[in-house]
Amino acid sequence: MIRRRLPPITWLTVAALLIGLPWTGVAGGAEKSSAYAAALESIHAEALAAHVNYLASEALEGRGAGTRGGHAAGDYLARQYAKFGLRGAAADGGYFQPFAACRNVLATLPGSDPELKKQYILVSAHYDHLGDGTHGRSLGTVGPIHPGADDNASGTAGVLELAHAMTVAGPIKRSLLLASWDSEEEGMLGSKHWLAHPTVPLEDLVMVVNLDMIGRLRGEHLAVFGTRTAYGLRRLVCQENEGSRLLLEFDWTLVANSDHHPFFQQGIPVLMLHTGLHENYHRPSDTADKINSPGMQEVDRLLFALVYELANRAQRPRFRAAARGETEADRRRLVEPEPLATLAAGPPLRLGISWRMDGAEPDTIVVNQVVPESLAAGAGIQPGDRIYEIGGRRFADDEAFIRLAQSLPEPIELLVERDGQFRVVTLRHAAAAPPRRRAA
Ligand SMILES: [Zn+2]
Repeated sequence: MIRRRLPPITWLTVAALLIGLPWTGVAGGAEKSSAYAAALESIHAEALAAHVNYLASEALEGRGAGTRGGHAAGDYLARQYAKFGLRGAAADGGYFQPFAACRNVLATLPGSDPELKKQYILVSAHYDHLGDGTHGRSLGTVGPIHPGADDNASGTAGVLELAHAMTVAGPIKRSLLLASWDSEEEGMLGSKHWLAHPTVPLEDLVMVVNLDMIGRLRGEHLAVFGTRTAYGLRRLVCQENEGSRLLLEFDWTLVANSDHHPFFQQGIPVLMLHTGLHENYHRPSDTADKINSPGMQEVDRLLFALVYELANRAQRPRFRAAARGETEADRRRLVEPEPLATLAAGPPLRLGISWRMDGAEPDTIVVNQVVPESLAAGAGIQPGDRIYEIGGRRFADDEAFIRLAQSLPEPIELLVERDGQFRVVTLRHAAAAPPRRRAA
């Protein structure tokens, strides 16, 4: 599989060097690939950390919505977008969408395709936090500053660096809308205000990718919410995760815990990236020194790959309303084993697996059981693994999978995903034991 993360220009580059030509002249697609690679490379831990350090500094006083520090944070974001050459996307053409004493900060990168540029990918993060933490207490109280480095200076920084990388990547087909929401901590007021006063038609909003707390990556575990809100979204996320070390936890929960949720309620597909809660959450101890900035770099590079693909692919994701009723309990049920006796009673199995179908990803199967000492067990297949291809081919449904599983010659290759990582697994019987003469 071709990985854009490591674009297929390396051998072209080598060939070009050997024959003394600039490699950009060798193949038509090379120029785009090199811009893509440069854009990915441009996303740096140091730049991300610099944004977080400023946004979570004492000077910004915890970025409380409508406070002096919150205002200064908004000014900083607008200055960054202007520096990147990105236009303001508020109704008046500026960067600020005011409401009450607050401001959303909006910027845009127009698409290049005459038709698709009318459609938008919205990448967002809230930039407000709890200020001095006195919200709801008596006037005159002054509490300790809540710097909110992870919540959500980290996501705010992630959107900034994504925006910058997109200016390096060259033209994209769909347009990008970048939103730094204010007043999320008061009940997602910024994103709700935008939905009540949208700056682009809602029907042209293809997808929302929201970042909330991406600064504490631990053990490479990144939670990805929302893949069930559009068909095939998990496959897309895994494809874009190829070449990274991130282990993705696809959480089915969709509750009103961040700014993607109001968009989901409007029937718009959403994704949310999140590195997990911790003991400093909503405390004055959520400070910049605890941020894992190399981890943020990994997360932001995945974000870039995702957004680039969403901006350029022909088909827009199709909203999947069934996601509204799904929970983590449904996810667990999908991989629950059936009694082994059920399998034993059926026809003999070739691969040694049973599975369930998944309505969100109809061209995959989810293994829920592996028969001991079967081909699948020998190859290390586990319950919960998801199969995307067999014999190098995709399959439309499990009937097609069964036909291929029964007819393909050994060894049989499966494209298997576990924790958002693809790997090719080869199923074959163990080498035959050397012939042994039996005494008669
Ligand atoms: Zn948050």
